[in-house]
Amino acid sequence: MSRFEELVQKFKQHGYKMTPQRRAILEVLTEGIHHPTAEQIYEQVKEHLPDISLATIYNTLHELTELQELRELDLGHGVRHYDISPEDHAHQVCLICGRIEDIPADFEAVKSLLQCSEGFHPMRYAVTIYGYCADAPSGE
Ligand SMILES: [Zn+2]
Ligand SMILES: [Zn+2]
Repeated sequence: MSRFEELVQKFKQHGYKMTPQRRAILEVLTEGIHHPTAEQIYEQVKEHLPDISLATIYNTLHELTELQELRELDLGHGVRHYDISPEDHAHQVCLICGRIEDIPADFEAVKSLLQCSEGFHPMRYAVTIYGYCADAPSGE
C-alpha cells in the first residue's frame, strides 16, 4: 500500500469523508515537494481545485496532525513546514539556501545519550541540525 492509500484508509477509519479537497492535499503531501509549507500546498492544490481555500488546507493539515500522521516542523524562521513521512528521522537544514533534507537517525541512541527524568516516556523526537550544504560557497 502506498503512503497515499494508507492515509486515505486512515481518514476513512476515523470517519472522515474522502472529499476531493482532502484527496488533493494528500496527493500533494505524498507526491509533491518534501516538507512543504501550507502556502506551497495551497499553490499546488489550487492548480487542480481553483476554489479551495487556505483555511481548508489548514483544517486538513490539522486533522492529519491529530491523527499523528503529519509532523509540523518549526525550523525557527517563522514558517511551518509539514512532513508526511511515517518514519522517524532527523533533519538537516542549510543556513544559506534553506534546503531541508531527511537524515536517518537512531533515536534509541539519542535516548541513551540524553537522560530523561525518571518515569518520563519519550514518544516523539525532533532533531534538526543546521549547517551549510555541499552547494554552499565554502571558506570564510
Ligand atoms: Zn545550501
Ligand atoms: Zn522529514
